[in-house]
Amino acid sequence: MQEADKQQTPTMPQNTATQQDPAMRQKKTPQREPAMPQQKTHQREPAMPQQKTHQREPAMPQQKTPQQSPAIPPKPIQHIPAKHIVTKTKDQSWFGIDYNMNIYRGCCHGCIYCDSRSACYQIEDFDQVRTKENALAIIRDDLRRKAKTGVIGTGSMSDPYNPFESGLLLTRHALELADAFGFGMAIATKSTLLERDADILESIKEHSPVLCKVTITTPRDELAAKLEPGAPLSSERMELISRLAGRGLFAGILLMPVLPFIEDNPSDILKLVSMASEAGARFIYPAFGMTLRDRQKEWYLDRLEAIFPGQALRSKYLKRYGNAYWCTSPRAKKLWGEFSRACEAKKILYRMNDIIPAYKRGYEYTQLSLFPV
Ligand code: SF4
Repeated sequence: MQEADKQQTPTMPQNTATQQDPAMRQKKTPQREPAMPQQKTHQREPAMPQQKTHQREPAMPQQKTPQQSPAIPPKPIQHIPAKHIVTKTKDQSWFGIDYNMNIYRGCCHGCIYCDSRSACYQIEDFDQVRTKENALAIIRDDLRRKAKTGVIGTGSMSDPYNPFESGLLLTRHALELADAFGFGMAIATKSTLLERDADILESIKEHSPVLCKVTITTPRDELAAKLEPGAPLSSERMELISRLAGRGLFAGILLMPVLPFIEDNPSDILKLVSMASEAGARFIYPAFGMTLRDRQKEWYLDRLEAIFPGQALRSKYLKRYGNAYWCTSPRAKKLWGEFSRACEAKKILYRMNDIIPAYKRGYEYTQLSLFPV
């Protein structure tokens, strides 16, 4: 999401992440080898939400709003080889994540600002979703070889709950493997399909930390439908958080990017905090700005002109940011002040070094208890 959704901001020194101990317990040894979930082959097209073929545009939630731009019809899924899927992170500064796992490559949610379109990631035709061949067997072997358990993050540079996942169940089965081997999970998504797997997350929560990060960049559905045409509406994502929180899962919002001149409205940010509070969100992690570079920048500026004709947004961006990579909202300081005060008032966490220990709380003692006192 994504963390194409990981559009980290350099503008918020308050958000400096901790290099926190993952505080994970000993690797759980399954009593027996976990049953290998069957990976579906693509001899025929996987079932899509509310439809069975990729040849037509899948039913997208945003079809509820007439104002929105048309969703991008996903292309039939492709397959690519992979040697490993679960890899160690360089550090745990990003939400205390120890391992990364991306089953999919590319994303069809169509967010106009997606950082993963950048040339440095070498993902051609980013809207084309690919799966890794034999993904579940590779994940099982990767997990089995890890000396230590930890939190597995998923949702970086792809959404683990793209429309294909509803038929393929690869993310679901990967969660089952994580559960069987005693790993925690930190999921980033824009899709309400995450709720389908809440039962497995509840099972993981019995032994390891679970973090649900739902990206919402604006409280306004009609704007979200233009900016993120393939993803559920903001209100639907907020309802997802409410349902996850209702099941006792640690869920909150990735508020990033906040697009300069488009989403950086103080009243919208405060409204989002208020909605998050009502939904039971435990945290909101913001970035009041965005990244722009090479082909992602060209894509973004082209889309702005198409979506907001006559508003001269291209020239506004070029005048303000030139070739800068980090594009901080001109209102970042004001937004941060109002946002942080609102979060404090609503008791919503918003600093990384508060969020990480909060969602891992309770699990560190499991390891300590292994030693005699
Ligand atoms: S297009 Fe996909 S990967 Fe990119 S920001 Fe949107 S949901 Fe995340």
